[in-house]
Amino acid sequence: MAKPETYKNFIGGEWVGSVTGETFENRNPANHDELIGMFQASNQEDVDAAVEAASEAYKSWRLTPAPHRAELLFDLGHLINERKEEFARDMTREMGKVLKETRGDVQEAIDMTYYIAGEGRRMYGETTPSELPDKFAMSVRMPIGPTALITPWNFPMAIPSWKLIPALVCGNTVVFKPATDTPLSAYNLVKACEEVGIPKGVVNFVTGSGRNVGQPLVEHDGVKLISFTGSTTVGKGISQVCGRLNKKHSLEMGGKNPIIVMDDANLDLALDGCTWGAFGTTGQRCTASSRIIVQKGVLDEFTDRFVERAKNLKVGDGLDPATEMGPVINKSQLQKVEEYIEIGRQEGASLLTGGHRVETEATASGFFLEPTVFADVTPGMRIAQEEIFGPVTAIIPADDLGEAVDIANGTPYGLSSSIYTNDVRNSFVAMRDLFFGIVYVNAPTIGAEVHLPFGGTQDTGNGHREGGSTVLDVFSEWKTLYVDYSGRLQKAQQID
Ligand code: NAP
Ligand code: MG
Repeated sequence: MAKPETYKNFIGGEWVGSVTGETFENRNPANHDELIGMFQASNQEDVDAAVEAASEAYKSWRLTPAPHRAELLFDLGHLINERKEEFARDMTREMGKVLKETRGDVQEAIDMTYYIAGEGRRMYGETTPSELPDKFAMSVRMPIGPTALITPWNFPMAIPSWKLIPALVCGNTVVFKPATDTPLSAYNLVKACEEVGIPKGVVNFVTGSGRNVGQPLVEHDGVKLISFTGSTTVGKGISQVCGRLNKKHSLEMGGKNPIIVMDDANLDLALDGCTWGAFGTTGQRCTASSRIIVQKGVLDEFTDRFVERAKNLKVGDGLDPATEMGPVINKSQLQKVEEYIEIGRQEGASLLTGGHRVETEATASGFFLEPTVFADVTPGMRIAQEEIFGPVTAIIPADDLGEAVDIANGTPYGLSSSIYTNDVRNSFVAMRDLFFGIVYVNAPTIGAEVHLPFGGTQDTGNGHREGGSTVLDVFSEWKTLYVDYSGRLQKAQQID
């Protein structure tokens, strides 16, 4: 077998090894024997070099007209599109989700790139009358400076693109630290940036651990903005550092997303949605449907049919077109999910299907778990409160819509939520009362589109929204401009 490639950091337009001289392995979670490549185990010194390059490049990038910045991004969109299949295959190999989904992940990066590149010719501010004569008033967006992008492994190209593209169109330069589990998809994105001619130092790429690369980036004086997606625990830690340093930071964190199934729902539709929402990406989505709150009139029928669906899902290597659910990302995550399955049992929930590793010849070297369904779950149980991030979902009974909404709202998170109902009143009450960043009606909790705001309330975020035009608020600062052409001192607020 050919020796696996060693990938480098990208700093100031050069591919360079880490000063540590050390590397880490990227392996396939469907077959841990398969080594995909070696990546740089970087440290503070590499971070310093990358931030210096980003600071230098910022001087000219911020002055490059936004439509020109955007032209490079349109080229980037075309290039990613050309390589969609190759990038999707790399992604399935490094993180396990099925090929249909990794194609979707790459497509999301393409969509985001085209959508946000369009902002190069918009990025609207406001002009408004002044309260004084011969005075002009307007607001414009300005870039912030070198920005750190810190991303998770579950959407290895889509999530970086949600950050990278808006950062660049707004005129910021970036240092991108991808998740240790998925550096290849990040490399593919950065390499494409190089190939379309994004100037040296505008996009820098440093691989390595959260502790040795992520933390120094957050602390670095030269980094003016942190954009983070990942767990609530790590995000809150970043928030504390940024609070101390008074540094702008945007956080996208965990979720415990509910689907409410009402007695009047179309059950076939609800079953399709719950199966996709709970087990798509092996339940490893921040928006995964990890709670299914079912009104009691349809509880038995829904539960029986849902368990049948879960049992029949074909688990295996995501590169096999027949596979419906891939592996869990790594061994420690596999163990964490198994611990939660044990916790669910001990709490007295009924394990109706799943709960075990999938042990066939084909899955022997991978981290495969059965799709797992708990029933008789009460809202306070840990499996109904904590993010598990695996193929496990909890069915929670409710008497009526009011109780279902209270249960739905009753966790520390607030990312995505959903209701299945054929009653227009139920759907509008849910849209009004669910305290989440996203509410779906008659669709599961997953399926966000790039041109709408994305993010959540409570412990899911810190008040920002990615996606949509709202993402520009993360990656720019407002500047208000007053131009007085009266030729005399004029005072506002009627002061004479
Ligand atoms: P994670 O462990 O929090 O890691 C996220 C990123 O932060 C990784 O690049 C990680 O590096 C880095 N990191 C770890 N410790 C750090 C530190 N002390 N300082 C700075 N950076 C640090 O999350 P994950 O396991 O990769 O991803 C799963 C989590 O992401 C879930 O909770 C999920 O809900 C959440 N998520 C949220 C959204 C959303 O939009 N709301 C979307 C997707 C995922 P290493 O990889 O080297 O550890
Ligand atoms: Mg991997």
